[in-house]
Amino acid sequence: MAVIVQKFGGTSVANPDRIKNVAERVAKYHREGNQIVVVVSAMSGVTDNLIKMARALMPLPSEREMDMLLATGEQTTIALTAIALHALGLPAISLTGAQAGIVTDGVHTKAKINNITPKKVHALLDQGHVVIVAGFQGQTMEGQITTLGRGGSDLTAIALAAALKAELCQIYTDVDGVYTADPRLVPGARKLPEISYDEMLELASLGAKVMQSRSVEFAKKFGVVFEVRSSLNDNPGTIVKEETPNNEGVVIRGVSLDKNQAKITLVGVPDRPGVAAHIFKAIADGNVNVDMIVQNISHNDGAPATDLSFTVDKPDLLKARTIIESLRDKIGVREILADEKIGKLSIVGVGMRSHPGVAAKMFETLASIGVNIDMISTSEIKVSVIVALDKGEQAMRAVHEAFLGK
Ligand code: ADP
Ligand code: ASP
Ligand code: MG
Repeated sequence: MAVIVQKFGGTSVANPDRIKNVAERVAKYHREGNQIVVVVSAMSGVTDNLIKMARALMPLPSEREMDMLLATGEQTTIALTAIALHALGLPAISLTGAQAGIVTDGVHTKAKINNITPKKVHALLDQGHVVIVAGFQGQTMEGQITTLGRGGSDLTAIALAAALKAELCQIYTDVDGVYTADPRLVPGARKLPEISYDEMLELASLGAKVMQSRSVEFAKKFGVVFEVRSSLNDNPGTIVKEETPNNEGVVIRGVSLDKNQAKITLVGVPDRPGVAAHIFKAIADGNVNVDMIVQNISHNDGAPATDLSFTVDKPDLLKARTIIESLRDKIGVREILADEKIGKLSIVGVGMRSHPGVAAKMFETLASIGVNIDMISTSEIKVSVIVALDKGEQAMRAVHEAFLGK
């Protein structure tokens, strides 16, 4: 009997009709004799709403209480999905992340999975149940409820597929698969039949929210092959797996735009050893991820000083600012500026390794439409630039057309 993990995202469970649609799909696979584990997200909009309500009470709410709050979204959906399966006459049972044996570290709102002991899941599958597990949540060894970062139901599904040694892991969403760019922003985007872990990982961490980046990292580490496909039709999706030699033939696999970044600039930072270490250590201790960092030329106005710019995820901006404010007097930063109106535009492809001139072509394309580049960062398989947020989508379409056609 094959174990299949099927994950359904927020839009796929957005209302009772959609949940019924999910139940019918699950029932089909169950009738074929498979053991099914279903992972569901909160109904679309629910997590955002819960965050909004908490922030209306306090700008930086306790992260422990945020996890307590956000975990309720998925808990609603697991019970409704179980009920929908019961209505079809199937034996189904819902489990919270903790009940499914998902143990995490204690970093609230961004917890990492330490281990999964799926004893209960196995037992229930063996009794013939469809097991429905709440995505996005786990529990610490001490019994605290945690969540796995936005989009974290993808991670629940991939991690369960690894722990259960599932034959198949299917990520059902509201598009037909992984495209060369977000099909909602780039009409000419094309569905990819397959993509390597590394390319998917870069696209995901650079803003293509179709998969949570940490889930792709996990899949690569444990060799979980998965398919991204639509819950609204039966079209084949995109297979995500280890790189094959012919991947290198394609220079650019995809383009992404991350509108969820903010830039912090520290003006007049004393130019002496240890200052950057001090600042970024404090930010890291606050569990804020820093992405691009640019330090520019010292000003020659007596005491040497530099301007230091870096990007963080928008929801972490206030926290990062608060941390820097607390160091400000000690370090002697003249001014702290924050800019939320930025977009990070990236091109990704393993073929870049063997094709020179890719960055130059991207910069030329942006210049030809009058888009200014604010920051640049590159790796072996990606080039990212920061541009003005209001130019982001236009820039994305132009770059997509230049590399991947209309
Ligand atoms: P779910 O709720 O199922 O987890 P998400 O909203 O998190 O779904 O992710 C699906 C969305 O990701 C799509 O609706 C699409 O707009 C967006 N997306 C961004 N980049 C891409 C891409 N390269 N390919 C496909 N979808 C993408
Ligand atoms: N409900 C969570 C979120 O909106 C997790 C998920 O959808 O994967 O981020
Ligand atoms: Mg998602």
